[in-house]
Amino acid sequence: MLEDKNMIKTPISALGEFGLIKHLTQSFEIKNPTTKTSIGDDCAVIDPDGKKMVVTTDCLAEGVHFNLGYVPLKHLGYKAVVVNLSDVAAMNVKPSQILVSIAVSNRFPVEALDEIYAGIKLACDRYQVDLVGGDTTSSNAGLVINITAIGMEVEEEIVRRSGAKPNDLLVVTGDLGGAYLGLQILEREHAVFLANPNMQPEMEGYDYILERQLKPEARTDVKNILKELGITPTSMIDVSDGLASEVLHLSDQSKVGFRLYEEKLPMDSLTVTTAEEFNLNPVVCAMNGGEDYELLMTIAPSDFEKIKNHPDFSIIGHAVDAEQGNFLVLRGSNELSQITAQGWDAFLNRS
Ligand code: ADP
Ligand code: MG
Repeated sequence: MLEDKNMIKTPISALGEFGLIKHLTQSFEIKNPTTKTSIGDDCAVIDPDGKKMVVTTDCLAEGVHFNLGYVPLKHLGYKAVVVNLSDVAAMNVKPSQILVSIAVSNRFPVEALDEIYAGIKLACDRYQVDLVGGDTTSSNAGLVINITAIGMEVEEEIVRRSGAKPNDLLVVTGDLGGAYLGLQILEREHAVFLANPNMQPEMEGYDYILERQLKPEARTDVKNILKELGITPTSMIDVSDGLASEVLHLSDQSKVGFRLYEEKLPMDSLTVTTAEEFNLNPVVCAMNGGEDYELLMTIAPSDFEKIKNHPDFSIIGHAVDAEQGNFLVLRGSNELSQITAQGWDAFLNRS
């Protein structure tokens, strides 16, 4: 990382602004026919070819969204792209272009930016998106990365947060809570390191959740899986802030309530055992943890047979009338716990 003694340090000023942009972006290739003009002009030119364009942007600030003490720069670049592609995937659209803006202080050598861009390139190659522009500026305090992602799709395919109807099934991809527990491990080991730099971090055995935190993937594959199953979700959102908060967004935009079943929440066994190690309720981690970047959607009840045994999806609840509110049905009882974005106090006290 920045303190890495082996890293050769070339000051950014040695390249100059234009030299730096060229240096960072020259290895990127254009893969999509919709990209007509890319880096090097005043604007990129994109041809949506009669489709609608979806656009999203996310800003990540050092010390707020990431800590360079334990997040490798290459992972940071990769994740910064992925979180944006996840938003495009949540509209049921394949992402095709990104723009990357960075504000960086001169304590960063060119080699540090190279690492970030290596991560950005890895994501561009993995997801077949084109880097078509950006901006580079200096910062007095720390590193800021802003990424914009673009996708194009016909109107009938685009899925918003607002289409859920009562009785629709609530479905989530993958498993939840892992990324949050990966962060707990990183923070614990970083604190140990700060107290005693000679101690070796104990990360062994936590690979899956560390990867969920450091190298999350956007579920751009879900669009095709749904297409093959013949399902168009009635509403969709990605799980960036935690299941509870995303359920409330769907509720708010679709004007329905939800019933979720505690026993149906998908969790990896490592997530559960690590939560217990930290004296945390795994359900709280799944509900409030966030950063899982899975997709949460509603589907028509008539699609139940198509999805019920599919390994990529878990049916975790259903939509009800708005007046019935949003509740988690607790395991082994019919007791209801109200879903709120901020708190799970009742849950936190339950062991
Ligand atoms: P302008 O002054 O017109 O904004 P810039 O000199 O900032 O142009 O950028 C020149 C070209 O390089 C533009 O195509 C811009 O989109 C691209 N660019 C600038 N910074 C970055 C970056 N950090 N990553 C990718 N492309 C960039
Ligand atoms: Mg510019």
